[in-house]
Amino acid sequence: EQTFEQLAEAIKWDGQGLVPAIVQDAISKEVLMLAYMNAESLRQTLESGETWFWSRSRSELWHKGATSGHIQKVRSLSYDCDGDTLLVKVEQAGPACHTGAYSCFHNSVTGAEEQPTGNRYDILDKLEEIIARRDAERPEGAYTTYLFEKGVDKILKKVGEEAAEVIIAAKNRSHEELRYEASDLIFHLLVLLREQKLPLDDLLAELGRRHLKQKSEYAISD
Ligand code: AMP
Ligand code: ZN
Ligand code: ZN
Ligand code: ZN
Repeated sequence: EQTFEQLAEAIKWDGQGLVPAIVQDAISKEVLMLAYMNAESLRQTLESGETWFWSRSRSELWHKGATSGHIQKVRSLSYDCDGDTLLVKVEQAGPACHTGAYSCFHNSVTGAEEQPTGNRYDILDKLEEIIARRDAERPEGAYTTYLFEKGVDKILKKVGEEAAEVIIAAKNRSHEELRYEASDLIFHLLVLLREQKLPLDDLLAELGRRHLKQKSEYAISD
């Protein structure tokens, strides 16, 4: 167990006694914001489990979300190789940016249309990110906003309905219907994962573990 004093020793504070902290959505992995911590805000962050920063413009300790309610619950905190940057993975309530945007990094310079990495499941990553964005920003008229506003019971009802529609489509032996309804089911399942704060990564890792286990237990080759 590292004491706070040992941690503070390991951090390379700048001339003002500050260190930059990158804040990342622990669930969708989106980079949300960058702010500065001094030793006191780092201590407060570790003690309270919520992010505290040093506001350079206001020259004061700043509990993120104190006025907006957009609190960041800390899932993990680490520092980089040379101790000059912190990485804080959080559960973000609402938008991270004071403009109301999900992430502060919404001023695109190049690469707005991100290149696909060639992985055919990229779309799941994208969907998870878009759903996280809708949850944070709640744009009016968006169906995902409607689901989050209605709450978990509505989302659960939709998952149930779409599962039933998948069954009907399969019974009908209709690829067209099944493609449509299975897509609906996956979309609503992703909304549910967001509502429950379960990362898609956790689910994929679980599938990966089962696959490995099967291989070793039954020597099934793929
Ligand atoms: P909050 O901490 O969300 O209650 O916001 C309080 C004030 O902190 C805002 O009015 C902004 O001045 C500032 N602020 C909040 N979030 C950010 C951010 N992501 N980046 C820079 N300043 C912020
Ligand atoms: Zn570094
Ligand atoms: Zn911002
Ligand atoms: Zn449907």
